[in-house]
Amino acid sequence: MSASSAPTGRSAVRWNYTPELPLRSAPFLHWPPRPGAIAKHLARTWLPLRPRFLMLAVSFGIWAWFMPSPERAKSFQLGWMFEVWLRNLVLVALVAGGLHVWYYTLRRQGDSLRYDTRPFGQSKRVFLLGNQVRENTFLTLVPAPLIWTGFESLLLWAYANGHAPSISFSDNPVWFAVFLAIIPWWSILYFSVHHRLLHLGPAYRRIHSWHHRNVNVGPWSGLSMHPIEHIALFSDVLLLFLVPSHPIHMYFMSMHHGLGAPLSHTGYDALLLGPSSRRQARFELGDFHHQIHHKLFKYNMGGLESPLDELLGTFHDGTPQGAGQPHRSHTSAKL
Ligand SMILES: [Zn+2]
Ligand SMILES: [Zn+2]
Repeated sequence: MSASSAPTGRSAVRWNYTPELPLRSAPFLHWPPRPGAIAKHLARTWLPLRPRFLMLAVSFGIWAWFMPSPERAKSFQLGWMFEVWLRNLVLVALVAGGLHVWYYTLRRQGDSLRYDTRPFGQSKRVFLLGNQVRENTFLTLVPAPLIWTGFESLLLWAYANGHAPSISFSDNPVWFAVFLAIIPWWSILYFSVHHRLLHLGPAYRRIHSWHHRNVNVGPWSGLSMHPIEHIALFSDVLLLFLVPSHPIHMYFMSMHHGLGAPLSHTGYDALLLGPSSRRQARFELGDFHHQIHHKLFKYNMGGLESPLDELLGTFHDGTPQGAGQPHRSHTSAKL
């Protein structure tokens, strides 16, 4: 919404831009239910110019054109697994690399809608390969697609051999649609839990601290993490050994990490499309809630659609007071 500055316990922070504050968690997490607000929230989060719609479209596209046939996937073979890896590599390189070039190489948007204008880290002592962007690029392009491909291959093999319960759209259209609608919520709940565990003692020091070397974030930061954290992140598809699903569900689940992480770490609130005007189109990819987590790492460990931060007293609404809203914010940490 505007530039803001406030003291904090650790260092002075000045945001270049914030969305409208205070941040509020999704209306479906609050009692009594407000059907109008819930409907508005759901409609807004599933609109075309949103990451969720993009991830769903990519999932359908992969299933239609880039999925190995069940006959090939019956046994683990390097040929089809290589194709899956290559497709995942290209996808993440296009999304993270494309956004990085747009925002930070070509500077097409300048600092418009950028949360934090501090430069990326340059310390040779802190980062692998000499600086933050190089480390981020390496971790995003080398371990992440390999681990993502490992879980996807396991599920494709399991579907092909009947080890994971599968459905088709024609046999079960209601569950097909309901499960698709549940997946974003499952994804953020899963992230909230495993991310919170990664903040505990040795898990933080040895594993998750790699991700938090990104004090300020860019598109390559989303998947910049210790490979053990990649395993934790992508393993939520193991749920599909228990819950009947279609491969599109598996792809949609994986996209929340493979593409969702780069999309939510751009450091910008939106991608401005077309010529500048008062009604300029925006691709809404910002995640200010998580940007706060990269500054105040004890807060906002989930997302705005997860109840855990509010329940456990770690919700930060982005205002200088932290607990600016009485509804269910508990933290007093200041930004
Ligand atoms: Zn992050
Ligand atoms: Zn964290």
